[in-house]
Amino acid sequence: MRRASTLSGHTPARRAPAVLSRVLLAVLPRRLWPRLTLLMLAATLPLVVLLVLSAVADGRRVVDTARDRVVQLAHLAAEQQDDMVQETSGLLRVLARVPAVQKIGDAECDGLLGTVISDHPGITGLAVVQPDGTVTCSSNPASKGMSVADRTYFQEALASRSTTTVIMSAMMTSRATGRPAMFFAAPLGRSPGQDVPTGVIVAGLDLSWFARLSNGTSGPSDQLVQVLDSRDGAVLAEAPAAVRHLGQRVPRSPVIEAFRASAGSGSLQAPDLDGVGRVFGFASLPGHAGALMVAIGLREADIRAAADQRFWFSIGIALAATAFALVTAWLIAKRTVLRPIDALVQAAALVGSGDLSARAEIGRGAAAELFSLGTAFARMAGRLQARDGRIAAMQQDIAISEGHHRLLAENVNDMIVRFSPEFRRTYVSPACRDLLGYGPEELIGTHPHELVHPADWEALNQSLFGRLLAGDATARASFRMRRKDGRHVWMEASCRRLEDGSGFVAVTRDVSERKALEAQLEEANRQLRVLAREDGLTRLMNRRRFDEALGEEYRRAMRVGAPLAVVMIDVDRFKAFNDTYGHPGGDACLQALAGVLQGRCRRPADLSARYGGEEFVLLLPNTDAAGALSVAECIRAAVRGLDIPHAGSEFGFATVSIGVAAMGPGRPKGPAALVEAADAALYEAKRAGRNVVRLADASAELSAS
Ligand code: GH3
Ligand code: MG
Ligand code: MG
Repeated sequence: MRRASTLSGHTPARRAPAVLSRVLLAVLPRRLWPRLTLLMLAATLPLVVLLVLSAVADGRRVVDTARDRVVQLAHLAAEQQDDMVQETSGLLRVLARVPAVQKIGDAECDGLLGTVISDHPGITGLAVVQPDGTVTCSSNPASKGMSVADRTYFQEALASRSTTTVIMSAMMTSRATGRPAMFFAAPLGRSPGQDVPTGVIVAGLDLSWFARLSNGTSGPSDQLVQVLDSRDGAVLAEAPAAVRHLGQRVPRSPVIEAFRASAGSGSLQAPDLDGVGRVFGFASLPGHAGALMVAIGLREADIRAAADQRFWFSIGIALAATAFALVTAWLIAKRTVLRPIDALVQAAALVGSGDLSARAEIGRGAAAELFSLGTAFARMAGRLQARDGRIAAMQQDIAISEGHHRLLAENVNDMIVRFSPEFRRTYVSPACRDLLGYGPEELIGTHPHELVHPADWEALNQSLFGRLLAGDATARASFRMRRKDGRHVWMEASCRRLEDGSGFVAVTRDVSERKALEAQLEEANRQLRVLAREDGLTRLMNRRRFDEALGEEYRRAMRVGAPLAVVMIDVDRFKAFNDTYGHPGGDACLQALAGVLQGRCRRPADLSARYGGEEFVLLLPNTDAAGALSVAECIRAAVRGLDIPHAGSEFGFATVSIGVAAMGPGRPKGPAALVEAADAALYEAKRAGRNVVRLADASAELSAS
């Protein structure tokens, strides 16, 4: 909004300088020195223009002065020329009244005319012509008898009514001399009663006489002086003699045209008949109605020579001043602006390309602003240099630290892996060769699942990836990985999320040995657990396990009110057996007997144990005295049925004596009492001669209820 209002506030008058500066910027060259040059030229241009204008005005003034002068000269010359014409006219008027002339055919006429001629060198001849045109008297005897009847001047003079009229002919060729000439004719008086004059007196004027007079005109030697007949443009006389237009008729020359258009005198600039540019001044001869004129032409080049010289001198001065200004400006600009700017540009380029030690050398002659700029630049470069030094030191530290880390990563036996956020391997330490048989380059970009045993995927997902993705910083998991040779090895990975969110890093190690040891240990423990419950020789339950089971079964029997029976078995005369067959033979007998207890005469819930030495015990849940007796009897018979020879026995074979005790519901005496009762019954069986079964009294009491 603010910008819009600012823009709308621009009036055309305020916008004009902005437009001008935009145009100037578009037109001006971009570099400083050409701009300065243009500025200097613009500054000196008015001086040059002034000089040129004043030189042009000077030239014009010179020409104007020349025109004035040449007009005056023309007037002067015209008056001189007119004198001769007037003289000739006056002479003819006088002669026309002389009786010897008036009287045609007078003998003295020729002599008179000859005498007059000698006094007037400008007149080539005098003649008296009778009305029919025949020359009757002449200063030149040869022309006598010639006819001039056809000549216009003669006819006009004859026709003239005035006796004072003098007719001036146009230029023509004299019949007497054959040279260009002008003729003046005046009528003689009339005889009484006659209309026509008695004759005409004619004077021939030598044109060279004009020229002679012209030569006397003051002025420069090469000035052109012409006596012209304005009627037909004939050149009657001219000077200097070098130009040869005498007798030519140029009725439409510029001078003639100007003369006709003027009131008797004037000036013009025009080429002469040879095409040379001249400043002409012209003036008419006062007599004869201004038919004759004098034109004086000065060469324009000569007139202008001095002015041109001054003009070129001025131009030279202006150029010299401009050149001086430019050189001075260049020297000053070079020292104060251009050279410092060059130095700054070079230094900036060097700094830009990394050479932070570069400085711009700004001399004392530089402009103060550039000097300040150079100082500021040096300060900036200094700071950059210092910062660069710090960065270099930091980079060195980082490089050393990275070297250490690399050394560690690449020399430990554990495989260090870096993962992308998508769990793609981006770095794998060389330990992978030993652990998996793959090179790091083969693993980069792969996902752990590709080598993890499929059976461990689920566990790995839960314990490692799942936890890390759920936000845990660390997670640990064990799993099997397939080596390049196809073998699976147990690995344990400890994985950590990178703080910058760029992924994860894991340390993975081979734990196959540890896993094997763990398995062995577990097996040992299992066996230990078995050993703790089993008898080593007979694989039956041991006494400890029997006591536990007795307690449990007793409590259960009490709880549900079920019967429970204990059967105690003792090998008869076993000491003697050992003595006879040796200890190993005794062991074998015991194992055979255990086989009977394990295999026959029992239900699945029954539990047989070695109670100690050659004594065994049966725990019979849900069994009353009768059932227990029947089991005992079965066992006794089965042992005897093994037919193990026993030389030290009264039966000749190995036998057992059995005591049975049974517990009825509602008569709790405790498990120990039950065993004691069975033991007592066993004692009874021994006493009764061995190889028999006896039921304890207590059990009888128990079962009787
Ligand atoms: P009776 O019971 O008939 O009265 O006579 P007996 O000879 O069996 O009595 P006694 O209890 O005195 O003898 C037990 C003998 O059992 C003593 C011992 O040498 C032998 N014995 C105990 N445990 C083992 C064993 O694990 N292996 C062997 N071979 N003999 C054992
Ligand atoms: Mg015994
Ligand atoms: Mg015994």
